[in-house]
Amino acid sequence: MPTCENCNNKWSWKQTIKKTFTLDPAMTCPYCGEKQYETQKSRMKNSALNFVIPLLLLLNIFIDIPGFLLLSLFPVLFIVVMSLHPFFVKISSKEEYINFF
Ligand SMILES: [Zn+2]
Repeated sequence: MPTCENCNNKWSWKQTIKKTFTLDPAMTCPYCGEKQYETQKSRMKNSALNFVIPLLLLLNIFIDIPGFLLLSLFPVLFIVVMSLHPFFVKISSKEEYINFF
């Protein structure tokens, strides 16, 4: 769970979900009101986590998973990934930009 760099308060699971699912990259700390940003490392980790879902589709090419099973697996997996998300989020007071070089 992310800890605010400004006031050192740990954000709750619910707060983190709420903050991370807005399009605004700046997340206001619910304790001190300071703007916090998800770190580059955290963002990369989380996009890897989200990659699990398309990976399941790929798996279907090799193993013949029945369509109905795959369809029912998607929402379950989606919920699992979403609920795991806050545990991997790291925040910092400074905004970082993704730099591939
Ligand atoms: Zn704070």
